[in-house]
Amino acid sequence: MRRLWAAVLTACLTLAGCGGEDADKHSRQFFAMDTYMTITAYGPQAESAMEAAEERIRHLEDVLSVTSEGSDVWAVNHRSSDRAAIGSEAMEVMGAALAVAESTGGALDPTIYPVVEAWGFTGDHQQVPDGDTLDAAVRRTGWERVQVEPGVLVLAPGMEVDFGAVGKGYAGREAGRILRDHHVKSAIVSLGGNVEAVGSRPDGSPWRVGLRAPDAEGHAGMLLVRDAAVVTSGSYERYFVDEAGQRWHHILDPKTGYPAENGLLSVTVTGPDGLLCDALSTALFVMGPERACEYWRDHGGFEMILIEEGRRIFVTEGLAADFSVFPDYTEDVVEVHR
Ligand code: AMP
Ligand code: MG
Repeated sequence: MRRLWAAVLTACLTLAGCGGEDADKHSRQFFAMDTYMTITAYGPQAESAMEAAEERIRHLEDVLSVTSEGSDVWAVNHRSSDRAAIGSEAMEVMGAALAVAESTGGALDPTIYPVVEAWGFTGDHQQVPDGDTLDAAVRRTGWERVQVEPGVLVLAPGMEVDFGAVGKGYAGREAGRILRDHHVKSAIVSLGGNVEAVGSRPDGSPWRVGLRAPDAEGHAGMLLVRDAAVVTSGSYERYFVDEAGQRWHHILDPKTGYPAENGLLSVTVTGPDGLLCDALSTALFVMGPERACEYWRDHGGFEMILIEEGRRIFVTEGLAADFSVFPDYTEDVVEVHR
C-alpha cells in the first residue's frame, strides 16, 4: 500500500500538480523601468497576453522615463516655454499624482525632480547636497503650481517632473488590465517590489505575496490577495552611505528636501488600483506612522502595513485575516482600527 501511494505521488509530481494546475503555467522575465519584471500567467491565452503586457510596459517606460530622451517627461523637463504637450498616459499619471499630492498635503510631489537630482538619485553618483543647493532645488518644486490643460502641462520656469514614485504602479495596473482583456483569469506580475495580482491562483486560492524585511534578508510576513496591487516603498530600496557613515535614502520630504526620517522603514499599500497604491506608498512613507493611520481612517479605499524601526508592525484591520507576520521577524504587531 505504501508503495502504491509513493507511485501515485511521483506521478503527480511529474505532472507538476495533481489537478494539472501547473500544466498551463507560463512565465516571462524582462528588464524595464530599471528593474527585473516577471509575469506568471495561466491558461491558453497566457503567452499572447504576457507579450502584450510586456509591450505595454515598454511603451510606458518610453513615455514616462525621466532619463530617456524623447519621453513625455523628458519633453516637459526640457521645454522651451512654460507649456509642454504630453500624451494621455503621462496626463493620467500626472492627474493621479496631483490628486494624491493634494489629499496628502504635498507629501507626494510629482515636481520633486530638482531635489532628486540634487541628491543624484537618478544617476550613479549620489551626494549630500549643501544647504543652499537643496533650498534652491526645493524652491523649484511645487505641485500646486502645475496647471493642467487638455494635452498640455503648464509649469513655471525651472520646474521639472518625476514619475519615479508612481510609474511602476501605473505599469502594473496596465499590465493587469491587458492580461484581463486577454481573458487571463490567473496571473501575477512582479515589477521589482510592486505586485499586481490578477484573479487568484489557478486552484482558486489567493495569491501569496511575501513582504520583504526592510532591515534583514528574507521576509517579514506574507499577504494573501486576489485581484489587487501590493506596492511597497522602503528606505532600503535605494540609499547611499556618506564618508561619515550616515545613510541617506531616496524617499524625500518635499518640504525640507531631505530623506523622510520618522521611524518608518517600509510602507506597503494594497488595493484595487496599482497607480493609487504606488502614489500612496510614497506619500504615507513621508507622512510617518501617525499621519499615515489618520489618512487611512479619513480616506479608506486601501489597506496598509507599516514597518517601523525596532520591528513594530502596524496593520490596518481590513488585512486581519489576510496578513501574517513571521514570528521569527517580530511579534510586535499592532492592528489599526477605524
Ligand atoms: P517609491 O519607491 O514608489 O516610493 O518612489 C520613490 C521614488 O520617487 C524616488 O526614487 C524618487 O525618484 C521619487 N520621489 C522621492 N520622494 C518623492 C516624493 N516625496 N514625491 C514624489 N516622488 C518622490
Ligand atoms: Mg510609490
